[in-house]
Amino acid sequence: MQNKDICFETLLLHNRHKLDPATGAVSVPIQHASTFHQYDIDQFGKYDYSRSLNPTREALEDVIAELEGGVKGFAFSSGMAAISTAFLLLSAGDHIVITEDVYGGTFRMVTQVLTRYRIEHTFVDMTNLDEVKAAIQPNTKAFYVETPSNPTLKVTDIKAVSELSKEIGALTFVDNTFLTPALQKPLELGADVVLHSATKFLSGHSDVVAGLAVVKDADLAQKLGFLQNSFGAILGVQDAWLVLRGLKTLHVRLQQSQNSAIKLAEYLNSHPLVKSVYYPGLKEHPEHELQASQAEGPGAVLSFELNDEAELRTFVSNVKLPVFAVSLGAVESILSYPAKMSHAAMPQDEREKRGITNSLLRLSVGLENPDDLIKDFSQGFAQIRHEQLVLQQGE
Ligand SMILES: *Cc1c(COP(=O)(O)O)cnc(C)c1O
Repeated sequence: MQNKDICFETLLLHNRHKLDPATGAVSVPIQHASTFHQYDIDQFGKYDYSRSLNPTREALEDVIAELEGGVKGFAFSSGMAAISTAFLLLSAGDHIVITEDVYGGTFRMVTQVLTRYRIEHTFVDMTNLDEVKAAIQPNTKAFYVETPSNPTLKVTDIKAVSELSKEIGALTFVDNTFLTPALQKPLELGADVVLHSATKFLSGHSDVVAGLAVVKDADLAQKLGFLQNSFGAILGVQDAWLVLRGLKTLHVRLQQSQNSAIKLAEYLNSHPLVKSVYYPGLKEHPEHELQASQAEGPGAVLSFELNDEAELRTFVSNVKLPVFAVSLGAVESILSYPAKMSHAAMPQDEREKRGITNSLLRLSVGLENPDDLIKDFSQGFAQIRHEQLVLQQGE
């Protein structure tokens, strides 16, 4: 199934599902049927019921497995459905070592749902391998990595964590939403399960909610396939098709957005009203080199902190180009306020411990001309200056 002779961007188009073998159609047919006629009472065909297997969903599952370099892919109704189903690989009494700045929905699942089933966890700063080692317990069965992390863009050494995990016979899960296989391939670095919110870069157009999982070996494929069918949070066929379509342009979208993100990060980094910029593409990022060694680039998401919440409010109400919204990884730039959006599920003290302050903004860079974004941001900052002057004159 693996096609190692062609480049990633070529594989996006020329994979197993390039053509429909029945008609030669250059787009995967959408098969709406929920059930399939069986011609033989003793021997059923490959498809019997669409929760278990559906040809359209299967095409997406094949394609993502090929792109991530895994043996099997699974498509779910959301990123959280993929992540939650993967957690069902664990049992009561098991323990997870998990990155502290994990996606807010994953935080909620681990702290408020899995605990009720006696699946325990320890949050660690995964950039610190000593802290990761110290968190290991006799019942540790999984390591949960998200890199770069959300929203402070910390980078975890996937290979090092996978090695620690292997030593104790645990599984390594990696949420690869931010970089996608276009930039990072966790399975090649030793991970066992790759998870995605396909709602983001993979589909790329802010028009579908979807999740994917890819596993490295046949044994895990059998287990996760069993869980996907048992829990039943599968992706619908129209949505599977939308993700398949989005995938064809993944590489060009991400390259373009990443180039613009590098430009914007440099602009923000030199702006006097910006307190700090979190982006692994910047040389001063503490894990800049690690990022360069394990991924093809720093990605298209960055965060930046302003001086205080009042300045942030002025900035947000004056910038015009990016949509101000939850989510990321789309053709349009998306500016989000993690404290009240992606991390609203996290209590304020937990958030602040992780650097997710009330003056932090996250930017997912889209396909606009970066100079237009810089111009827009500049007028947003100018408005902050203007208000400061008005205040001073009033004093
Ligand atoms: C959005 C997101 C999720 C959750 O995915 P949904 O599709 O919204 O359920 C998980 N992890 C990361 C990093 C995300 O950005």
